[in-house]
Amino acid sequence: MTQHFIVIGNPIAHSKSPDIHADFAKQVGLDIRYARQYCPDNQDSFIAVVEAFFAGGGVGANVTVPFKQMAYELCEQRGGLSQHAQVAGAVNTLMQKEGHLYGDNTDGQGLVNHIQQLGWQLDTAKVAIIGAGGAARGVILPLIQAGISQLTLANRTLDKATTLLQQLRQADTQIANAKTQVCAINELTGHFDVIINATSIGLSGEKLPLQNSLTCVYAYDMMYGRELPFLQHFAKQDSQISDGYGMLIGQAALSFELWTGQQPTTAAAAFMD
Ligand code: NDP
Repeated sequence: MTQHFIVIGNPIAHSKSPDIHADFAKQVGLDIRYARQYCPDNQDSFIAVVEAFFAGGGVGANVTVPFKQMAYELCEQRGGLSQHAQVAGAVNTLMQKEGHLYGDNTDGQGLVNHIQQLGWQLDTAKVAIIGAGGAARGVILPLIQAGISQLTLANRTLDKATTLLQQLRQADTQIANAKTQVCAINELTGHFDVIINATSIGLSGEKLPLQNSLTCVYAYDMMYGRELPFLQHFAKQDSQISDGYGMLIGQAALSFELWTGQQPTTAAAAFMD
């Protein structure tokens, strides 16, 4: 019997999720249909789409911009949340568990899995994240759980980074016990094992105000699909670099596993055509 899945977003036409999940299903021999679901940008419409999908027998839904927080609130009211979704304050994966709506957030673990797949060591790593929006929020707990030794959170608006870290330290003891600090982007200096760009600057054409004294072994940009100034900057310093396409595949694989119990292969090269 065909199992039905959707990704809910606005806009949604660009989403690569249907292709990625079709590939996963083929790998493990499952019959699925995975569709892009446009939704007007308001809570009532989002709730109506989710209710109709699961009432119609849908198995699982991914949630993307701008609905991740609404999905979190809906699960908080009506069902359950994973630890990663609770700490992230956002849900990217919906399913039914024991008759109730259940939300998880696989973005951060998807990033960690991709970094580990690249062979970049996170255990005891000194890590900097640039950006303090939703994406940064979702990756901090999985990075700490992967064993990093210290985390510096740098953001254009320093107050936002300070508030984010305060909230996360209150929400989770592993984060509270971790060695963390905040700074402005142009004050980020020294050597790191891994620097992650979690800003949306790649979309604007602007460049981050990076100090020349800022260096790293590995530079990761959560954005993908174009020439990224952040990665070009660190490639010139002979850092190893990666864009975020593998993170996209990694989070999808974790959603697929939650829904189907099957673990697909995530070698990014298989998805680049
Ligand atoms: P948000 O809008 O929540 O946060 C944006 C962040 O970017 C803020 O920290 C903001 O700083 C910063 N920023 C924006 N413009 C500039 C600028 N000109 N100079 C310096 N900093 C800037 O976005 P998200 O956190 O949701 O997403 C961030 C990125 O991560 C996006 O590019 C998104 O595509 C990517 N992403 C990739 C995923 C993947 O699977 N590969 C998954 C999820 C996200 P300030 O606080 O000062 O405004």
